[in-house]
Amino acid sequence: MMRKCILLFTIFAWVISCSRDSNNEFSNGSSDYNHTRSVGASANDLLSNSRYNSLLIEIQYMPGYAPDAQALDHVKNFLSAYLRKDNGITITQREIPGTSSSSLSADDIRKIENNNRTVFTNGSTMAINIMYTNGQYSGNSNTLGIAYRNTSIALLGKTIHDNSGAFGQTSRTKLEATVLEHEIGHLLGLVDLGSPMQVNHKDSSNGNHCNNQNCLMYYASETTDILGFITTGNIPQLDANCKADLKANGGK
Ligand SMILES: [Zn+2]
Ligand SMILES: [Zn+2]
Repeated sequence: MMRKCILLFTIFAWVISCSRDSNNEFSNGSSDYNHTRSVGASANDLLSNSRYNSLLIEIQYMPGYAPDAQALDHVKNFLSAYLRKDNGITITQREIPGTSSSSLSADDIRKIENNNRTVFTNGSTMAINIMYTNGQYSGNSNTLGIAYRNTSIALLGKTIHDNSGAFGQTSRTKLEATVLEHEIGHLLGLVDLGSPMQVNHKDSSNGNHCNNQNCLMYYASETTDILGFITTGNIPQLDANCKADLKANGGK
C-alpha cells in the first residue's frame, strides 16, 4: 500500500523551473530559436500554425529503453488533435549512450540534452526533444517524467519499466503514453503555464495542474487511485477546461 501511495503521488511528476536558463525567445545575438526558456514559454509556437506549421520531435533513448511504439502512435494522435501543424508532425528516434549514474538531477538531464540534441527549431518547423533515461530522478526516485525546458521533456525509463508491463501492472503503452502526454501538456502551457486559463481550474496547491481528477493534467493525490484508474481504464484525456485553454492559445 505504501508503495502504491508513493507511486500515486509521483506519477505526474514535476515541472522544473529553469531559473538558470535564459528566458528570451531568441538567443542573444543570434536568430536561432531559444530552446532554454522555461516550461510553457513556447506554448503558442507549438499550438498555433502562424509561425511554425510543422513539428519535429526527436526522441533520444538510452540503451534498453527504446520507446513503446504504440505509445508513440497514441502521442501522435494526441498532438494531431490539439496542435495546428498543417505541414505535419514527425517523430524520430535514436539511441544515445547510457549514463553510469543510477540517479539523475534536472541539471544532469539538461547537460545530457546539451551534448546530444541535434534537432532544433528551424524555419517553419518547431522541434521538441524527448529523452528516455536509464536512471531514476534524483529529486524523487518515483518520478516518471519531467518537463524541464520550453521544448524538452524527459522520461525516467527505468522507473517506467519497473512499474509497468509485468503481470498485475499497468501496460507499458498506457503508462508511457500517459506520462508523455502529461509532460507535453506542460510544454503546451498547461495549467496556467503559458496558455492562459479561460476559467480558473488550477489545482494551486499542486503547482501547474488541473483540479479535475479525471483530467490528464491532474496531479495525482494520496486519495485518488490514478495508477488503478490507468490499469483498469484508458489513458486519461484532457478535460474541457484544459482543451479550452489550448484552443484559446492557438490550438485546435
Ligand atoms: Zn505535471
Ligand atoms: Zn484539465
